[in-house]
Amino acid sequence: MENRQNGRYLAVDIGGTAVKIGLVDQEGNFLHTAEYPVAFDDYETPILDTVIASCGIFMEEFDEDDVPLLAIGVSATGSINTVKGTVDGSAGQVKNWKGSRIKERMEERFPVPVYVLNDANAAALGEVWLGAAKGKRNVVAVTIGTGVGGGIIVNSQLLLGESGFAGEIGHITIRYGGRECPCGNTGCLEEYASMTALVRQVRQEIEAGRLEGIPAKEVNGRLIFQEIRNGNKEMERITDQWIDVVAAGITGFVHIFNPETVIIGGGVSSQQELFIDKVRQRAFARMHPEFAPNLEIVAAKLANNAGMAGAVYYCKQRLGEI
Ligand SMILES: [Zn+2]
Repeated sequence: MENRQNGRYLAVDIGGTAVKIGLVDQEGNFLHTAEYPVAFDDYETPILDTVIASCGIFMEEFDEDDVPLLAIGVSATGSINTVKGTVDGSAGQVKNWKGSRIKERMEERFPVPVYVLNDANAAALGEVWLGAAKGKRNVVAVTIGTGVGGGIIVNSQLLLGESGFAGEIGHITIRYGGRECPCGNTGCLEEYASMTALVRQVRQEIEAGRLEGIPAKEVNGRLIFQEIRNGNKEMERITDQWIDVVAAGITGFVHIFNPETVIIGGGVSSQQELFIDKVRQRAFARMHPEFAPNLEIVAAKLANNAGMAGAVYYCKQRLGEI
């Protein structure tokens, strides 16, 4: 008789450059982790082939015969159909990825159930299990990076929608007729509130001669906040305008979902005073006051392991372990 209490989960986080793999126990402890490249031949070897081979290598090294493996939780980049466990869309230039049948192929290779979520949804669930929204029932997670990603938790369940695509909060139109978005729409929040958008704005200011002393091509998020800390008032002004857009987006999500916690993730979320505190202050200033009393707006906590943690938590929910 298997002792499920001692059972473990394989966590897999598939990104555009690497796959992270972890062996996770029932309490969310990461017993072993490893990372394998997926873009070594410019994706000529399909990512899914690399992932399955890497999981095999990982299990060979770390799996213990007397401890049952209960399920595999996968967090993956792209538009993930959670019902079918397939990659139905891919925004980036990742060859041989769209159309991948993750669940089917992995269940052929490993003798346990496989559950697949998109990475932003998985990260949100990870924060609910082990991170900044631990134990919270209604949560909106916003990730500010190259794009704007999101995950929404309603009554402790991930909001998947019909197929698992729900939570694409970066693609709500905030400026009708605005900038073209790679998704095919125009005026998406992502085009104004992502780190990419801030970097683009700063570069434009440099090229227009309004911001001096920094080569446009060297601009990145880290440099922007370093400049502000060094007293660059013009940089602070540009960044504050961008923060206003981020705060306005968050206020909208608060009004739709009435969460207890809004989690802000992405590299920029480590900027507590210059970013998180300002977003919080401005979001609350815009908000219908009745939404505010039980709401906290905080930085994400789990960083690199959020996707893997969320994928495992989703397995636990599906298997009825919690
Ligand atoms: Zn879009």
